Amino acid sequence: DTLTAVSVPACFGYALRLYQARLNESGVEVVYAWPETEAWVRADLVRLEQVLVNLIGNALQAMSETPSPRLTLAIEPAHDKVRLSVADNGPGIDEANLARVFEPFFTTKSPGSGLGLGLSISSRIIDDLGGRLTAGNQPQGGAIFTVTLPADTATR
Ligand code: ADP
Ligand code: MG
Repeated sequence: DTLTAVSVPACFGYALRLYQARLNESGVEVVYAWPETEAWVRADLVRLEQVLVNLIGNALQAMSETPSPRLTLAIEPAHDKVRLSVADNGPGIDEANLARVFEPFFTTKSPGSGLGLGLSISSRIIDDLGGRLTAGNQPQGGAIFTVTLPADTATR
């Protein structure tokens, strides 16, 4: 397992590349809410990218019928940690399901369009990296997933 200094903006960039075509044709507005400064976490680039790919994929799926879809990616350095989030303006998560979205095989999607494994795997990855993944709804509507990871102290 290879923990190194990982640039969070670069990692978001790699994850977004995968969705470039879909983002262009679907007219999703992408908002980058982060400071000019770099944000470095101590993590595994490939595995963090996998988590971001899962979260962005879920957000895009959730906004498939949203009139003006908007994906908000945020980075917030906080002491010895870095908080990053993926938020959408889709329908959000039913309060009754909030506690269950990280369970393996939990899905509200029709058979074939979701296995219900993305978030359980993502949560496991972030735990293994010494961080935390949480799910919530925003006051203005839409879901938000927040990842907290240890900052890389050498590059801070
Ligand atoms: P899957 O995408 O295969 O359903 P996930 O583990 O990725 O499995 O997600 C589990 C469930 O969490 C989804 O089926 C959905 O109900 C809910 N969920 C995840 N992301 C969002 C989101 N951005 N907006 C609304 N609901 C979401
Ligand atoms: Mg998913």
